[in-house]
Order: sequence, then C-alpha cells, then structure tokens
Amino acid sequence: MKIDLHIHTSPLSACSYIDPQELIQEARRLQLDGICLTEHQVVWDPDEVDKLAAEAGISIFRGNEFTTNQGDILVFGFYEDIKELLIIQDLREKVTAADGYMIVAHPFRGFKTFGIGQLQLTVEQACKRKVLEFVDAVEIGNGKLSPEENNMARKVAEKLGLPGTGGSDAHRVDEVGTWVTVFEKEIESEIELVQELHAGRFRAVKQDR
Ligand SMILES: [Zn+2]
Ligand SMILES: [Zn+2]
Repeated sequence: MKIDLHIHTSPLSACSYIDPQELIQEARRLQLDGICLTEHQVVWDPDEVDKLAAEAGISIFRGNEFTTNQGDILVFGFYEDIKELLIIQDLREKVTAADGYMIVAHPFRGFKTFGIGQLQLTVEQACKRKVLEFVDAVEIGNGKLSPEENNMARKVAEKLGLPGTGGSDAHRVDEVGTWVTVFEKEIESEIELVQELHAGRFRAVKQDR
C-alpha cells in the first residue's frame, strides 16, 4: 500500500498552496493508495477527514509535524495541538504515552549549503545528532531535498538500524507523491497505520510524477 506520509494543505498550514480537494484528485491521478495530512503544529478534525475520505476513494490519515528544539518531527498516533516550540524530550514523553510514532523529518536539509558539507560531515558524525536518540524512524526520502541530503539520511538510518520513511513534504499540488512509503499490509485506520509503523513493515520509495 503506497502512502505519501508527509503533505501540507491550505489553510491549516499557512505555507501550503494545496487545496484538499485538489490534493485528492492528484493523489488519485498518481495512483496513491493513501495520503497523510501532516500540518505544522495542528491536527485535522477527525470528522472533516472522514468527510473528505468518504468521497475520496483513497485513504486519508492524520499526522502532525512538530517543530522542536532539535528540528521538525513527524508524529503519528498522537493527536494534540501544541503551538509552542517543543523540547524534544517532552515531545517524546507525550508521544510514548500515546503509543505514537516519531520520525525525524528532513534531518540533513541544508547540510551542504550551510557549510557543514565543507567540513566533510561523515556518516559517523551525522549519526551523533542528538535528535536521532529520540525518534523511531528517519525520513530518508523527502521530496524537497537534494539526493545528497536524502542519501545522508539513508546512510545514517542504516548505520543506526532505524527504519526509513518517504514523503513528498508537498506544499504545492505538483509536488505530491515524489516520495512515498510502501507498506506491506493494507491499512484501514490510523491505529493500523501506527501499528504498521511500529512493526517496521514498510520502505521508502522514490516516484516519478
Ligand atoms: Zn519540516
Ligand atoms: Zn513538512
């Protein structure tokens, strides 16, 4: 089952231009089986998602992208709105209490442009990033990142033995589906999504649009 795990829509994510109805049409055109709505610091109302999904013909699940002191974290299975910047330890405690799942989003975004690249950041050094101690998985395929940035994330995840997810991080409709997470089983609910994440029965796949 092919799911784009990381999408922002308008108006809940102010930085996104994606209308939810257009998103559904595009996801169907791309033959995705499901999409996850991962807005910044805000979770969709479950009734509204049910309404959307009823007509969509594809699965729609909720997530959240939290900004923490250690960067952005995709969270599944924990559906609270928290607006302020979170300390990673605090988020981990809350998500663990809810039996939720945490994925570090785009962990090496900008590692070349911000100069770390010139310092020849090695995979070993990259593995020491503090955020990696607090997450269940690493986003190894993010549609907004360069292949080098994604490759670094993949190598780090492999070295640490963490599973890797894929998601487009789309903010425009023509960005949807560039990376997806392919799950081994059919997933029919958010509970099952979190179960399959915890079970590690998935892999990140890059897709042509
Ligand atoms: Zn982000
Ligand atoms: Zn994002």
